[in-house]
Amino acid sequence: MGYEADLKLFIDGVWKSGEGRDAHTVIDPVTGSGIAEVPYATAADLEEAIAASGRAWPEWRSTDVEKRSAILHKTASLLRERVDHIGAILTQEQGKILAEAKLEVLGSAQLFDWYAEEVKRDYGRTLVRPAGQLSRVIRQPVGPTATFSPWNFPIYLLAKKVAASLAAGCTVISRPPHETPGCATELFRALHDAGIPAGVAQLVHGDANLISTTLIASPVIRKVSFTGSTNVGKHLMRLAADSMTRITMELGGHAPVLIFDDCDLEKTLDMVVPQKFRNAGQVCVSPTRFYVQSGIYDAFLKGFAERTAKVKTGNGLDADTKMGPLANGRRPDAVGALIEDARAKGARVLAGGEKGDQGFFFQPTLLADVPNSADIMNDEPFGPVAVTRAFDTFDEAIEQANRLPFGLAAFAFTENGRRANLIGDLVESGMVGINTFAISVADAPFGGVKDSGFGSEGGKEGLESYQVVKAIHQA
Ligand code: NAD
Repeated sequence: MGYEADLKLFIDGVWKSGEGRDAHTVIDPVTGSGIAEVPYATAADLEEAIAASGRAWPEWRSTDVEKRSAILHKTASLLRERVDHIGAILTQEQGKILAEAKLEVLGSAQLFDWYAEEVKRDYGRTLVRPAGQLSRVIRQPVGPTATFSPWNFPIYLLAKKVAASLAAGCTVISRPPHETPGCATELFRALHDAGIPAGVAQLVHGDANLISTTLIASPVIRKVSFTGSTNVGKHLMRLAADSMTRITMELGGHAPVLIFDDCDLEKTLDMVVPQKFRNAGQVCVSPTRFYVQSGIYDAFLKGFAERTAKVKTGNGLDADTKMGPLANGRRPDAVGALIEDARAKGARVLAGGEKGDQGFFFQPTLLADVPNSADIMNDEPFGPVAVTRAFDTFDEAIEQANRLPFGLAAFAFTENGRRANLIGDLVESGMVGINTFAISVADAPFGGVKDSGFGSEGGKEGLESYQVVKAIHQA
């Protein structure tokens, strides 16, 4: 199977490439070799996109909600029809296994369907006033927006931003990461084929710094949404301060998982191990720091190591592969350095721990007795590594869970209802999963606290993040 992505920019309703533009090589993470060239937007392309976004906005915001909704629904059905094609592109440019890639495409379609309906229920409110007077509060689209999405869920996280902004009545310019341009291009092809008007949704591949500085500085762009690392997020916030541009920040995490001795251990292990190695651990809500109650710590490690040994790595296109390579050449060395540091500080390596022989592979890895002084206990590994240590009391578990500046997702496994309630209240994170990992769903807000960012994507909160509030008083 070849890489069948037709990589182009999509500006003002026109597909563009070549014409002297720089190009960047797309790498197959299985081999580390180039498989395609993606054209990079020039400064002139960006100016054209900004102007088109500003021009298209007044009409798109006034377009009947049923018509907007129909285009989003049509986009969803095209994504479903094309799931095999887009899934194969995603696997080849990103590395995740085909089954996960297809689920990601289907999840993206679901987001378009959900926002197509949710926007119809976007009611305002009227306030209590004397007869003849009227005060009402309405939400309106914020204006042209810009999105910066990452390479770990390259179509789903892009769809979250694009579907919500289009549903809200905003126009959108998207910059996908250079590692995964193919599935992003396919999303915009589906929008185009669904009848999105020129200038309403535009795609600009290219240099992250040039694109973010240009779009954020423009007075036309009223809102920016970013998903990626905390460092880049802070940099973009500084840029946004100068232009007073609204911003949503979905940044890194370092999710704690509290395993209590009253959980169903076998069932818990059957859930946590595949979840840890999903997408080779490159998930901002990946379960990472496993705190296990002392009485079941050894049994947990034994069960985890046995299951980890059975996770077959390989090309994501092969049906029996359970985990593909990491998505880019930066990650294997970064993950390897974190493991070496942990080992030097006393951690035991119970499974994996090494890079693969080719491409960007890294073995599924289990570390035990990891001290808090190890870098991996403090920096997000963003790779296939589970980090474990024992705890004794409930208070100690909560203290460990909250000890980092991150607060994106947290998980716990317990059969004790009162304990589950307390965990929900006490853990400092944007999302909590108790006996479940199903926290990224279309109808619920997704976002973090502390260094994990602010603002929500998903749910009605995701729609509101592309709106401004207006109070209108009439005497
Ligand atoms: P990075 O910090 O170089 O880049 C993170 C993302 O931001 C990438 O998608 C990149 O294309 C984009 N980016 C970089 N510079 C930018 C700029 N000036 N303007 C706009 N966008 C810019 O990190 P990386 O090596 O690509 O990824 C590693 C780290 O990023 C991980 O350790 C993880 O913490 C974080 N990350 C988080 C998520 C998430 O879902 N929250 C996704 C991907 C990466």
